[in-house]
Amino acid sequence: MALDTQGSRRPYTGRFAPSPTGPLHDGSLLAAMGSFLDARAHGGKWLLRIEDIDTQRVVPGADRIIMGQLHALGMHWDQAPVWQSQRLKLYQNAFDHLLARQLVYGCACTRQELPLGAYPGTCRNGIPAGREARAWRFKVPAGLETFEDRWQGAQHQDVAAEVGDFIIKRADGIWAYQMAVVIDDGDQRITDIVRGTDLLDSTARQQVLARHLGIIYPRVMHVPLLLDDSGRKLSKQNHATALDLANPVRTLNKAWQALGFNAMPETDLKSFWYSAQAQWARRFSVL
Ligand code: GLU
Repeated sequence: MALDTQGSRRPYTGRFAPSPTGPLHDGSLLAAMGSFLDARAHGGKWLLRIEDIDTQRVVPGADRIIMGQLHALGMHWDQAPVWQSQRLKLYQNAFDHLLARQLVYGCACTRQELPLGAYPGTCRNGIPAGREARAWRFKVPAGLETFEDRWQGAQHQDVAAEVGDFIIKRADGIWAYQMAVVIDDGDQRITDIVRGTDLLDSTARQQVLARHLGIIYPRVMHVPLLLDDSGRKLSKQNHATALDLANPVRTLNKAWQALGFNAMPETDLKSFWYSAQAQWARRFSVL
């Protein structure tokens, strides 16, 4: 259970939010498994959200393949899945809310004009004469964001200094990942995020944005990434192969071990998940 700002209990609601840019692979299975187990260990709900907002990266049909893979591995979601591409109105409403509070501004800078690192705030007080807004940025207030990550421990980031005002609507008109994910987690009343460590660095941004949208930011847990032989994150970009579904328990066992547990002797899906859930609950002191 998570406590909301009024101190009342909110039932555990977790989610897996894949981008349908290809089938799940051994790396993305870690996030799916972690979020699924954490929800089950808490007796909570596990939702599936297809993050297909970045239409340039979406591979048609990948969403259905992902859903088929999850089912084949015995991972069943508890509510009808949602697709971000069908929720654009929600993002626009949130944007309007920020705009009315002067928390967003248009930015004319091109990528080439910007230094590496934090956005220097070039357009914060207005776009230079003769230029036009391309993207929209969130005005990050000064201050340190802190949070407790259930896997990685205490975290902090000075978003204003280290990232600067970040983009919530891109130059191509597409809602930025940071914007859509915060609104969806709020709208779906997600209490707990479990995802890969590659997104640890996004969390402080999401937390500060959530606060300005009146959204209770979920608890977070960032699970390790699977690295390839040269130490890079296993991803579609570096040719991770799709999951082997011929032997689902063996595939699950690989992910399970990559999360730091001992291989499980179980040979059928049901007993695999049963034992995994119990071990997860013990390791993370889930009551
Ligand atoms: N859609 C993101 C991805 O596949 C995950 C978003 C999240 O879990 O917050 O990397």
